[in-house]
Amino acid sequence: MEKRTDIKSLSLEELTQELTGLGEKAFRAKQLYEWMHVKLARGFDEMTNLSKGFREKCRELYAYTALQAVRVQESRLDGTRKFLFELWDGNVVESVWMRYKHGNSVCISSQVGCRMGCSFCASTLDGLERNLLPSEMLDQIYAVTLLTGERVSNVVVMGTGEPLDNYENLLKFIRLLTDEYGLHISQRNVTVSTCGIVPGMRRLADEGLQITLALSLHAVTDEKRRKLMPVAKSYSIRELMEACAYYFKQTGRRITFEYSLVGGVNDTDEDAAGLAALAGPLHCHVNLIPVNPIKERDYVRSESARIRAFQDKLEKYKINNTIRREMGRDIDGACGQLRRRHVKTLETP
Ligand code: SAH
Repeated sequence: MEKRTDIKSLSLEELTQELTGLGEKAFRAKQLYEWMHVKLARGFDEMTNLSKGFREKCRELYAYTALQAVRVQESRLDGTRKFLFELWDGNVVESVWMRYKHGNSVCISSQVGCRMGCSFCASTLDGLERNLLPSEMLDQIYAVTLLTGERVSNVVVMGTGEPLDNYENLLKFIRLLTDEYGLHISQRNVTVSTCGIVPGMRRLADEGLQITLALSLHAVTDEKRRKLMPVAKSYSIRELMEACAYYFKQTGRRITFEYSLVGGVNDTDEDAAGLAALAGPLHCHVNLIPVNPIKERDYVRSESARIRAFQDKLEKYKINNTIRREMGRDIDGACGQLRRRHVKTLETP
């Protein structure tokens, strides 16, 4: 296990303290921080305006994370790219780069694996391996920026993992990502998606951030939700809605509800009416996601006529909604599939 301090996870203030503690001038911290978070250096060697002696000292004292792309898949349909990155300990995570009219968006992972156990999701099938460090979340964006040669303007924490199950690291990551001396991505362009860990949602509401919170709802009764998502056994829909109201009150930011449509499971008109009743009072945006079937489960996506009828019902109740445009369908669409395939291939001799 790596024992050295993970330098890329330090705030500018912490880095300044660290380096002045070594007898360095404060401006060295600013230079180093800029190399890491603006120039996206992949190691101390690249930091050519720092003396060789100082770089040598840094190499001894600090761990410097950088991801290796082990696989890149590009969609022929829409140019979406999916990256499989190897971490320093050999674990792999996936990130997705999408090009939209309003800018480039990266979907990142927050954990290696996941322990939430949602029944339709591939990322959770092997449980949680470990949390990602703040630096390892940043690195996904930095690596994608370097590999595409284009600036990232939107970040969604919607890949593998439950971000609120890795709360401290997530918060450090958001502060570094949106820091004016770093990449300086606007907080409003950062979305965190949660399966609904109520204490985490409430805590996030009090952080003074302007990020968007997305709640993976997927069912409008506790009974149905518990069948799809084990986390629903710990928090009721009522508690979730109260936490959403609190988030809105504290931040003024509207919540997005994510709702994966599963054929014959949660896609009736009654489900739509229930969803409208929850979303309406909170002024939520609803994002409908036709479920991506995974081979380990027998869920199917709703028929397209059913999806349209579901959407019509939401429209009738004046609920702001979108059907998630599918991107990269030809390149292992559903979350966690690419990583899983890779890990399984390595396991089979
Ligand atoms: N743990 C977080 C973020 C990761 S999942 C969360 O639960 O929100 C990102 C979104 O994709 C969630 O809404 C999740 O429920 C959904 N999802 C996962 N697997 C899916 C699949 N096979 N088909 C459709 N949506 C899926």
